[in-house]
Amino acid sequence: MVDEPRAGQGQDPLGNRLLVVDDEPSIGRLVRKIAEGIGFEVLLTEDPIVFAKTAREWRPSVIILDLKIPGTDGIELLRGLAADNCAAHIVLTSVIDDKVLEAAQQLGRDRGLNMGALLHKPIRIDILERLLRALKPVPKTLLADDLGEGIAAGQLFLEYQPKLDCRLGRITGVEALVRWRHPVHGIVRPDQFVALAEESDLIRSLTDWVIVEATKQAAAWQAERLGLVVAINMSAKDIEDLALPDRLHHHCRHAGIEPNAIILELTETSAMREAVQMMDVLTRLRLKGFRLSIDDFGTGYSSLVQLQKLPFSEIKIDGSFVMQMMHSASCRVVVEIIIELARRLELKSVAEAVEDEATLKSLAEMGCDMAQGYHLSRPIAAEQIAGFVRKYGSGGAR
Ligand code: C2E
Ligand code: CA
Ligand code: CA
Repeated sequence: MVDEPRAGQGQDPLGNRLLVVDDEPSIGRLVRKIAEGIGFEVLLTEDPIVFAKTAREWRPSVIILDLKIPGTDGIELLRGLAADNCAAHIVLTSVIDDKVLEAAQQLGRDRGLNMGALLHKPIRIDILERLLRALKPVPKTLLADDLGEGIAAGQLFLEYQPKLDCRLGRITGVEALVRWRHPVHGIVRPDQFVALAEESDLIRSLTDWVIVEATKQAAAWQAERLGLVVAINMSAKDIEDLALPDRLHHHCRHAGIEPNAIILELTETSAMREAVQMMDVLTRLRLKGFRLSIDDFGTGYSSLVQLQKLPFSEIKIDGSFVMQMMHSASCRVVVEIIIELARRLELKSVAEAVEDEATLKSLAEMGCDMAQGYHLSRPIAAEQIAGFVRKYGSGGAR
């Protein structure tokens, strides 16, 4: 069975096309519902010949490929895609164990394919949704033109997600997450415009806007004696900027807060670039009293030696491991080892994307210091934070 491309399909200049190869109709329907909701055009097939033809002619931007389908297997299909120089972002899925999925992913990479995340079955709706949102290309010309104006016109806003201290059972921090209220597209998530800001030179004004807003908010919470450390996400480009430590310090002073009320979250890959300049910036930030967190830990290509050399205060375990740790033995091991690594290096461990009570309990038992995720709270408006924190009891002066 395959959906025939409708007239006009395949013309989408943004390339929001998703091809799904799966022999379970219920999975196909689930993926279609979610993907269409996000703005993908979706075609489903279970026939290998139709699949190869559609991949060649329809040129999907994303392919979700089940490794086990009748009459062939995913490895053969990957070989065919490589021969056709397929440029799609390929997500492998299967009920088979992680090791085989990972081996297939590596094989695809070795053949020059654009291999993305692995999607373990049974597929979790929230994981699928997050993945597809991150893969949806943005209308570049539109956004690049609009983003600068949007920042100037006050279209950005922050939400804050509470961070729980597992031992104290209190909220002791929040992470600031930027959103864009776009006049045409509605609320746009950062996954869809931060990279764009990085490509243009808008990242500097975006980060500055976030810093000003978050430090003001931190000061307001301090005045309410909530004792919250506010986390701000930094892009790699920000860390290359030698003037960042002074600018950040200036904004803190202006807002009336100490640098230790702020923690900067850096992605593992950005933090691990070897540039001397970055080391300069990070070390000066630490000297000034800011704390540094290494974000999405476990996903980049990091060197543990560098982790030990760079002046971090906190490791954030990537959500993809945390979300799956209760049903994937290998994810659980990764989480345990990162917590142990943090402990040995005298860094705080933070688990992100904690989605249920069982995971939270298990993390606390493993000795994880902090937890954050939908189970505790989704990112919420600044005005809702005080009420939420008081519900748990604040971590600071009372
Ligand atoms: P991140 O730093 O890894 O942030 C965590 C993301 O996971 C957030 O998505 C958050 O809403 C989401 N999340 C939180 N709890 C859960 C959960 O329990 N389950 C699931 N499935 N997801 C959860 P968001 O807000 O869309 O942010 C995406 C990314 O955008 C962030 O990833 C961060 O890398 C970047 N970002 C956000 N704000 C900024 C910013 O101000 N500046 C820069 N440079 N990057 C930012
Ligand atoms: Ca973060
Ligand atoms: Ca993260």
